[in-house]
Amino acid sequence: MKLGTYLEINLKKIQENSSRILELCRSMDIQVLGVTKGFTAKPRIVRAMIAGGIESLADSRLENIKMLRDRGFKQSMTLLRIPRLSAVDMVVEYTDCSVNSEYSVIKGLSDEALSRGKKHDVVLMVDVGDLREGVLPEDALEMAKDIAMLKGVRLCGIGTNMGCFGGVLPTMRNLNLLMEVAGEIEKRLGIKLEVISGGGTSSLQLVERGQMPKGINQLRIGEGLLLGTDTTHGRTISWLHQDAFLAKTEVIELKVKPSKPIGETGRDSFGKIPSLVDKGLRKRAIVALGKQDVNVDGLIPIDPNMHVLGGSSDHMIIDVTDVDENIEVGDQLTFKLNYQGLLFLCNSRYVKKVYV
Ligand SMILES: *Cc1c(COP(=O)(O)O)cnc(C)c1O
Repeated sequence: MKLGTYLEINLKKIQENSSRILELCRSMDIQVLGVTKGFTAKPRIVRAMIAGGIESLADSRLENIKMLRDRGFKQSMTLLRIPRLSAVDMVVEYTDCSVNSEYSVIKGLSDEALSRGKKHDVVLMVDVGDLREGVLPEDALEMAKDIAMLKGVRLCGIGTNMGCFGGVLPTMRNLNLLMEVAGEIEKRLGIKLEVISGGGTSSLQLVERGQMPKGINQLRIGEGLLLGTDTTHGRTISWLHQDAFLAKTEVIELKVKPSKPIGETGRDSFGKIPSLVDKGLRKRAIVALGKQDVNVDGLIPIDPNMHVLGGSSDHMIIDVTDVDENIEVGDQLTFKLNYQGLLFLCNSRYVKKVYV
Protein backbone atom coordinates (compact mmCIF):
# COMPACT_ATOMS: atom_id res chain seq x y z
CA MET A 1 0.00 0.00 0.00
CA LYS A 2 1.24 3.48 -0.83
CA LEU A 3 1.17 5.78 2.17
CA GLY A 4 -0.62 8.91 1.08
CA THR A 5 -0.56 10.86 4.30
CA TYR A 6 1.92 10.30 7.07
CA LEU A 7 4.31 11.80 9.57
CA GLU A 8 7.93 11.13 8.68
CA ILE A 9 10.22 10.98 11.68
CA ASN A 10 13.98 11.21 11.22
CA LEU A 11 15.52 9.54 14.27
CA LYS A 12 19.09 10.51 13.36
CA LYS A 13 18.17 14.20 13.39
CA ILE A 14 16.50 13.87 16.77
CA GLN A 15 19.60 12.13 18.08
CA GLU A 16 21.81 14.91 16.69
CA ASN A 17 19.62 17.67 18.12
CA SER A 18 19.80 15.93 21.50
CA SER A 19 23.56 15.65 21.49
CA ARG A 20 24.08 19.24 20.35
CA ILE A 21 21.83 20.60 23.09
CA LEU A 22 23.54 18.39 25.66
CA GLU A 23 26.95 19.54 24.56
CA LEU A 24 26.03 23.20 24.92
CA CYS A 25 24.37 22.71 28.29
CA ARG A 26 27.07 20.44 29.68
CA SER A 27 29.62 23.17 29.10
CA MET A 28 27.62 25.28 31.56
CA ASP A 29 26.99 22.45 34.05
CA ILE A 30 23.34 22.30 33.11
CA GLN A 31 21.51 18.99 33.12
CA VAL A 32 18.95 18.43 30.34
CA LEU A 33 15.66 16.61 30.87
CA GLY A 34 14.41 15.26 27.54
CA VAL A 35 10.74 16.21 27.34
CA THR A 36 8.64 13.58 25.59
CA LYS A 37 5.11 15.05 25.65
CA GLY A 38 5.40 16.64 22.17
CA PHE A 39 5.33 13.23 20.50
CA THR A 40 3.18 11.14 22.89
CA ALA A 41 6.45 9.63 24.16
CA LYS A 42 6.80 7.24 21.23
CA PRO A 43 9.45 4.76 22.35
CA ARG A 44 11.55 4.87 19.16
CA ILE A 45 11.89 8.63 19.46
CA VAL A 46 12.70 8.36 23.15
CA ARG A 47 15.43 5.87 22.24
CA ALA A 48 16.84 8.33 19.70
CA MET A 49 17.04 10.98 22.42
CA ILE A 50 18.79 8.51 24.70
CA ALA A 51 21.19 7.58 21.89
CA GLY A 52 21.98 11.31 21.69
CA GLY A 53 22.98 11.26 25.35
CA ILE A 54 19.78 12.19 27.20
CA GLU A 55 19.79 10.45 30.57
CA SER A 56 16.64 11.78 32.24
CA LEU A 57 13.16 12.08 30.82
CA ALA A 58 10.15 14.22 31.59
CA ASP A 59 6.54 14.30 30.45
CA SER A 60 3.39 16.11 31.42
CA ARG A 61 1.22 13.02 31.06
CA LEU A 62 1.27 10.15 33.54
CA GLU A 63 -0.15 7.90 30.84
CA ASN A 64 3.00 8.46 28.74
CA ILE A 65 5.29 7.82 31.69
CA LYS A 66 3.46 4.64 32.64
CA MET A 67 3.65 3.43 29.04
CA LEU A 68 7.42 4.02 28.97
CA ARG A 69 7.82 2.15 32.27
CA ASP A 70 5.74 -0.73 30.90
CA ARG A 71 8.09 -0.82 27.89
CA GLY A 72 11.05 -1.17 30.21
CA PHE A 73 12.52 2.34 30.24
CA LYS A 74 14.54 2.67 33.47
CA GLN A 75 15.58 6.33 33.14
CA SER A 76 14.66 8.85 35.80
CA MET A 77 11.27 10.36 34.91
CA THR A 78 9.86 13.66 36.05
CA LEU A 79 6.19 14.54 35.85
CA LEU A 80 5.96 18.05 34.39
CA ARG A 81 2.31 18.82 34.94
CA ILE A 82 1.53 19.45 38.58
CA PRO A 83 -0.18 16.22 39.73
CA ARG A 84 -3.87 15.65 40.27
CA LEU A 85 -4.73 14.94 43.89
CA SER A 86 -6.65 11.93 42.59
CA ALA A 87 -3.54 10.46 40.94
CA VAL A 88 -0.89 10.67 43.66
CA ASP A 89 -0.70 6.86 43.80
CA MET A 90 0.28 6.65 40.12
CA VAL A 91 2.71 9.54 40.47
CA VAL A 92 4.56 7.80 43.28
CA GLU A 93 4.47 4.46 41.51
CA TYR A 94 5.76 5.53 38.09
CA THR A 95 7.76 8.72 38.46
CA ASP A 96 10.88 9.64 40.42
CA CYS A 97 10.07 13.28 40.73
CA SER A 98 7.19 15.67 40.10
CA VAL A 99 6.83 19.43 39.89
CA ASN A 100 4.39 20.83 42.44
CA SER A 101 2.72 23.95 43.75
CA GLU A 102 -0.11 22.77 46.04
CA TYR A 103 0.47 21.69 49.63
CA SER A 104 -2.52 19.32 49.73
CA VAL A 105 -1.16 17.42 46.74
CA ILE A 106 2.39 17.30 48.12
CA LYS A 107 0.97 16.00 51.42
CA GLY A 108 -0.94 13.39 49.41
CA LEU A 109 2.26 12.37 47.61
CA SER A 110 4.05 12.14 50.95
CA ASP A 111 1.36 9.94 52.53
CA GLU A 112 1.29 7.70 49.48
CA ALA A 113 5.08 7.38 49.39
CA LEU A 114 5.20 6.58 53.12
CA SER A 115 2.61 3.85 52.71
CA ARG A 116 4.84 2.28 50.07
CA GLY A 117 8.03 2.73 52.03
CA LYS A 118 9.34 5.13 49.36
CA LYS A 119 10.47 8.73 49.14
CA HIS A 120 9.22 10.90 46.27
CA ASP A 121 11.22 13.88 44.96
CA VAL A 122 9.43 17.20 44.70
CA VAL A 123 10.46 20.26 42.69
CA LEU A 124 8.61 23.30 44.00
CA MET A 125 7.48 25.48 41.12
CA VAL A 126 7.94 29.21 41.59
CA ASP A 127 6.05 31.58 39.30
CA VAL A 128 8.38 34.37 38.29
CA GLY A 129 5.82 36.03 36.03
CA ASP A 130 4.39 33.79 33.33
CA LEU A 131 1.30 33.14 35.48
CA ARG A 132 0.85 29.46 34.83
CA GLU A 133 1.76 27.11 37.70
CA GLY A 134 3.83 27.90 40.75
CA VAL A 135 3.82 29.71 44.08
CA LEU A 136 4.67 33.39 44.01
CA PRO A 137 8.28 34.12 45.01
CA GLU A 138 7.22 35.70 48.30
CA ASP A 139 5.34 32.52 49.28
CA ALA A 140 8.07 30.05 48.33
CA LEU A 141 9.93 29.97 51.64
CA GLU A 142 6.81 29.21 53.70
CA MET A 143 5.84 26.45 51.32
CA ALA A 144 9.36 25.01 51.33
CA LYS A 145 9.26 24.88 55.15
CA ASP A 146 5.97 22.99 55.05
CA ILE A 147 7.29 20.54 52.47
CA ALA A 148 10.46 19.95 54.48
CA MET A 149 8.29 18.71 57.39
CA LEU A 150 6.77 15.92 55.30
CA LYS A 151 8.43 12.54 55.69
CA GLY A 152 7.48 10.90 52.40
CA VAL A 153 8.84 13.57 50.07
CA ARG A 154 12.20 15.21 49.56
CA LEU A 155 12.37 18.81 48.43
CA CYS A 156 15.02 18.22 45.77
CA GLY A 157 14.78 21.62 44.17
CA ILE A 158 12.83 24.53 42.79
CA GLY A 159 11.95 25.41 39.25
CA THR A 160 10.09 27.82 37.06
CA ASN A 161 8.26 27.84 33.80
CA MET A 162 8.14 30.65 31.26
CA GLY A 163 6.93 31.44 27.79
CA CYS A 164 3.81 29.34 28.11
CA PHE A 165 0.76 31.24 29.32
CA GLY A 166 1.91 34.82 29.68
CA GLY A 167 4.63 34.56 27.05
CA VAL A 168 7.14 35.88 29.58
CA LEU A 169 10.70 35.64 28.31
CA PRO A 170 13.40 34.10 30.48
CA THR A 171 15.88 36.80 31.43
CA MET A 172 18.86 37.18 33.72
CA ARG A 173 16.52 39.18 35.95
CA ASN A 174 13.72 36.66 36.45
CA LEU A 175 16.13 33.72 36.67
CA ASN A 176 18.22 35.61 39.20
CA LEU A 177 15.01 35.99 41.18
CA LEU A 178 14.69 32.20 41.12
CA MET A 179 18.29 31.91 42.34
CA GLU A 180 17.52 34.35 45.17
CA VAL A 181 14.54 32.27 46.25
CA ALA A 182 16.75 29.17 46.16
CA GLY A 183 19.42 30.86 48.23
CA GLU A 184 16.89 31.97 50.82
CA ILE A 185 15.40 28.46 51.13
CA GLU A 186 18.85 26.87 51.45
CA LYS A 187 19.91 29.35 54.09
CA ARG A 188 16.76 29.36 56.19
CA LEU A 189 16.14 25.59 56.05
CA GLY A 190 19.78 24.57 56.16
CA ILE A 191 19.37 22.29 53.16
CA LYS A 192 21.02 22.01 49.76
CA LEU A 193 18.72 22.17 46.75
CA GLU A 194 19.99 19.71 44.19
CA VAL A 195 18.00 21.09 41.26
CA ILE A 196 17.38 24.65 40.13
CA SER A 197 15.31 24.18 37.01
CA GLY A 198 15.33 27.23 34.78
CA GLY A 199 12.68 26.48 32.17
CA GLY A 200 12.36 24.92 28.74
CA THR A 201 13.48 25.68 25.21
CA SER A 202 12.89 29.41 25.66
CA SER A 203 15.73 29.43 28.21
CA LEU A 204 18.28 27.97 25.77
CA GLN A 205 19.04 31.37 24.29
CA LEU A 206 20.54 32.56 27.58
CA VAL A 207 22.80 29.51 27.59
CA GLU A 208 23.86 30.18 24.00
CA ARG A 209 24.74 33.74 24.93
CA GLY A 210 26.55 32.73 28.09
CA GLN A 211 24.03 34.73 30.12
CA MET A 212 22.42 31.96 32.14
CA PRO A 213 22.75 32.91 35.83
CA LYS A 214 25.20 30.66 37.63
CA GLY A 215 23.46 28.05 39.72
CA ILE A 216 20.67 27.28 37.28
CA ASN A 217 21.54 23.64 36.69
CA GLN A 218 18.65 22.09 34.83
CA LEU A 219 16.57 22.78 31.72
CA ARG A 220 13.60 20.74 30.50
CA ILE A 221 13.81 20.69 26.71
CA GLY A 222 11.14 19.58 24.27
CA GLU A 223 10.50 21.91 21.35
CA GLY A 224 14.11 22.77 20.55
CA LEU A 225 15.18 19.17 20.59
CA LEU A 226 12.33 18.03 18.37
CA LEU A 227 11.76 20.94 15.99
CA GLY A 228 14.83 23.14 16.35
CA THR A 229 12.61 26.13 17.04
CA ASP A 230 11.97 28.47 19.98
CA THR A 231 8.41 29.71 19.62
CA THR A 232 8.57 32.08 22.56
CA HIS A 233 11.34 34.07 20.90
CA GLY A 234 9.87 33.43 17.43
CA ARG A 235 13.17 32.03 16.15
CA THR A 236 14.65 28.96 14.56
CA ILE A 237 17.73 27.65 16.32
CA SER A 238 20.32 27.66 13.56
CA TRP A 239 22.53 24.90 14.98
CA LEU A 240 19.65 22.40 15.21
CA HIS A 241 17.64 20.48 12.62
CA GLN A 242 14.18 21.88 11.87
CA ASP A 243 13.07 18.93 9.76
CA ALA A 244 13.25 15.91 12.04
CA PHE A 245 9.48 15.72 11.62
CA LEU A 246 7.81 16.20 8.24
CA ALA A 247 4.14 15.84 7.40
CA LYS A 248 3.48 14.35 3.98
CA THR A 249 0.06 14.35 2.50
CA GLU A 250 -1.54 13.45 -0.77
CA VAL A 251 -3.31 15.75 -3.22
CA ILE A 252 -6.89 14.53 -3.78
CA GLU A 253 -8.21 17.42 -5.87
CA LEU A 254 -6.45 20.00 -8.00
CA LYS A 255 -8.54 22.69 -9.66
CA VAL A 256 -8.53 26.32 -10.62
CA LYS A 257 -11.33 28.10 -8.75
CA PRO A 258 -12.29 31.63 -7.75
CA SER A 259 -10.79 32.76 -4.45
CA LYS A 260 -14.03 34.37 -3.26
CA PRO A 261 -16.91 32.05 -2.33
CA ILE A 262 -19.88 32.18 -4.68
CA GLY A 263 -23.34 32.84 -3.23
CA GLU A 264 -24.67 33.96 0.13
CA THR A 265 -22.26 33.03 2.94
CA GLY A 266 -22.89 31.86 6.49
CA ARG A 267 -20.35 30.19 8.74
CA ASP A 268 -17.71 27.56 8.03
CA SER A 269 -17.89 24.03 9.45
CA PHE A 270 -16.36 25.24 12.74
CA GLY A 271 -18.82 28.12 13.22
CA LYS A 272 -16.43 30.87 12.14
CA ILE A 273 -17.20 33.49 9.54
CA PRO A 274 -14.73 33.00 6.68
CA SER A 275 -12.87 36.06 5.49
CA LEU A 276 -11.51 35.28 2.07
CA VAL A 277 -9.81 37.85 -0.08
CA ASP A 278 -10.68 38.00 -3.76
CA LYS A 279 -7.45 37.31 -5.65
CA GLY A 280 -9.19 36.12 -8.79
CA LEU A 281 -8.78 32.61 -10.11
CA ARG A 282 -6.29 30.46 -8.16
CA LYS A 283 -4.98 26.94 -8.48
CA ARG A 284 -5.90 25.04 -5.33
CA ALA A 285 -4.88 21.62 -4.09
CA ILE A 286 -7.00 19.74 -1.58
CA VAL A 287 -5.00 17.32 0.55
CA ALA A 288 -6.13 14.36 2.65
CA LEU A 289 -5.54 15.86 6.07
CA GLY A 290 -7.92 17.95 8.13
CA LYS A 291 -8.63 19.68 11.38
CA GLN A 292 -9.22 16.41 13.16
CA ASP A 293 -5.59 15.60 12.44
CA VAL A 294 -3.86 18.95 12.78
CA ASN A 295 -4.36 22.67 13.33
CA VAL A 296 -4.26 24.40 9.98
CA ASP A 297 -1.56 26.87 11.03
CA GLY A 298 0.54 24.03 12.48
CA LEU A 299 1.70 23.06 9.00
CA ILE A 300 4.40 25.05 7.26
CA PRO A 301 4.81 24.20 3.55
CA ILE A 302 8.41 23.36 2.62
CA ASP A 303 7.84 25.28 -0.60
CA PRO A 304 7.49 28.96 0.32
CA ASN A 305 5.29 29.46 -2.74
CA MET A 306 2.58 27.26 -1.24
CA HIS A 307 0.01 28.84 1.05
CA VAL A 308 -2.37 27.05 3.38
CA LEU A 309 -5.78 28.64 2.84
CA GLY A 310 -7.69 26.73 5.48
CA GLY A 311 -9.49 23.51 6.02
CA SER A 312 -12.34 21.55 7.48
CA SER A 313 -12.38 18.31 9.50
CA ASP A 314 -10.91 16.13 6.78
CA HIS A 315 -9.67 18.47 4.04
CA MET A 316 -7.05 21.14 3.78
CA ILE A 317 -6.85 23.58 0.94
CA ILE A 318 -3.51 24.85 -0.33
CA ASP A 319 -2.98 27.64 -2.84
CA VAL A 320 -0.40 26.26 -5.28
CA THR A 321 -0.75 28.86 -8.04
CA ASP A 322 2.79 30.19 -7.53
CA VAL A 323 4.48 26.82 -7.23
CA ASP A 324 7.03 26.18 -9.97
CA GLU A 325 6.74 22.41 -10.35
CA ASN A 326 3.75 20.79 -11.88
CA ILE A 327 1.53 19.27 -9.20
CA GLU A 328 -0.89 16.46 -9.98
CA VAL A 329 -3.57 14.53 -8.14
CA GLY A 330 -1.81 11.73 -6.24
CA ASP A 331 1.32 13.81 -5.62
CA GLN A 332 2.63 14.37 -2.14
CA LEU A 333 3.07 17.77 -0.49
CA THR A 334 5.53 18.18 2.37
CA PHE A 335 5.22 20.38 5.43
CA LYS A 336 7.31 21.25 8.44
CA LEU A 337 5.47 21.56 11.74
CA ASN A 338 5.19 23.91 14.61
CA TYR A 339 4.91 22.52 18.14
CA GLN A 340 1.15 22.44 18.12
CA GLY A 341 1.10 20.77 14.72
CA LEU A 342 3.45 18.11 16.06
CA LEU A 343 1.24 17.51 19.11
CA PHE A 344 -1.84 17.10 16.93
CA LEU A 345 -0.29 14.83 14.31
CA CYS A 346 1.29 12.55 16.89
CA ASN A 347 -2.12 12.18 18.49
CA SER A 348 -4.03 11.54 15.27
CA ARG A 349 -4.67 7.86 14.80
CA TYR A 350 -5.37 8.49 11.13
CA VAL A 351 -1.83 9.68 10.44
CA LYS A 352 0.70 6.87 10.06
CA LYS A 353 4.11 7.37 11.63
CA VAL A 354 7.02 6.43 9.40
CA TYR A 355 10.55 6.28 10.81
CA VAL A 356 13.55 6.98 8.61
C1 LIG B 1 6.32 21.24 28.17
C2 LIG B 1 7.12 21.66 29.31
C3 LIG B 1 8.48 21.89 29.15
C4 LIG B 1 9.18 21.79 27.81
O1 LIG B 1 8.96 22.94 27.08
P1 LIG B 1 9.58 23.15 25.61
O2 LIG B 1 9.22 24.53 25.28
O3 LIG B 1 8.90 22.14 24.74
O4 LIG B 1 11.03 22.93 25.70
C5 LIG B 1 9.20 22.27 30.26
N1 LIG B 1 8.62 22.41 31.45
C6 LIG B 1 7.30 22.20 31.66
C7 LIG B 1 6.73 22.37 33.01
C8 LIG B 1 6.51 21.82 30.59
O5 LIG B 1 5.20 21.59 30.78
